[in-house]
Amino acid sequence: MNKIALAIHGGAGTIHKSEMTAALEKEYQNGLQNALQMGWRILQQNGSALNAVEAAVVELENFPLFNAGKGSVFTHEGKNELDASIMNGKNLKAGAVAFVQNVKNPIKLARLVMEKTEHVLLAGEGANEFAHECRVEFESDEYFFTEHRYRQLLKAIEAGRIQLDHAAENENQKPKTKSQKPMGTVGAVACDAAGNVAAATSTGGMTNKKFGRIGDTPLVGAGIYADNQTCAVSCTGHGEFFMRGVSAYDVAARMKYKNLSLEQAASETITQLAEIGGEGGLIAVDSTGNIVLPFNSEGMYRGFVAENGEIVVEIYR
Ligand code: ASP
Repeated sequence: MNKIALAIHGGAGTIHKSEMTAALEKEYQNGLQNALQMGWRILQQNGSALNAVEAAVVELENFPLFNAGKGSVFTHEGKNELDASIMNGKNLKAGAVAFVQNVKNPIKLARLVMEKTEHVLLAGEGANEFAHECRVEFESDEYFFTEHRYRQLLKAIEAGRIQLDHAAENENQKPKTKSQKPMGTVGAVACDAAGNVAAATSTGGMTNKKFGRIGDTPLVGAGIYADNQTCAVSCTGHGEFFMRGVSAYDVAARMKYKNLSLEQAASETITQLAEIGGEGGLIAVDSTGNIVLPFNSEGMYRGFVAENGEIVVEIYR
């Protein structure tokens, strides 16, 4: 039997310990722990990596502090437009949705795209129509509304910038350069007892985004990838750079063609990301159950289950 493994993230970015209260830190930790427990239970009961990553991401989407599902950031027009993707490393099947609205759990819809259609990515009105056809759960605008995200939008509009999540709220710690932006998004990667890997990623995107902007999250190769031959990857950070670096696939390609270990491959990918000016991180697992969680930002909400079953969650560098 293969070693089971699970890792999750709740976004990378400018996360200062000085800006965090002990109570808020605890809340974040609980959110991560619950998601890990959800996914881990499935893996322990011999469930599939695919079911485990979906369950973990549903939990993170329902948790209001992370930028996915409930608690997603606002577009320029004050809406929530959500992106999500899921990929199965066993057969390279994938499903994704982009700018869907009012769908409670976009990751479930992404899975339905993978399983019920012959397509990989559905966007906008069409994706919403498909969601209605599948009778997935919808929620009102009020459900998605959170005060702190709305304040972020007002600030971003005032500053005239499009902003990734996990912004430094303090005036002195405002991002100073374009590459110093904060980020969000949630994701999970897993390896099950049969040695199958899977990945899932879900996001509200960037605060104040306009013109139908879509990031890396729903794009296979950029924000997500999974292949039993190499690894499963979920990314978070400034999406445009992950798209240009085809970052999720880049980790797998370095393993496949350069024969690198998961750790070496992921570290080279993050180095390349930095070289093109990108900031963020990723989580990845290979089919023997190794886990890595590299990032080049100040922090990344992240967690994994250690070999002895202990749940480890971390926020800062
Ligand atoms: N990668 C996401 C995007 O660009 C945002 C994030 O990870 O915070 O839409």
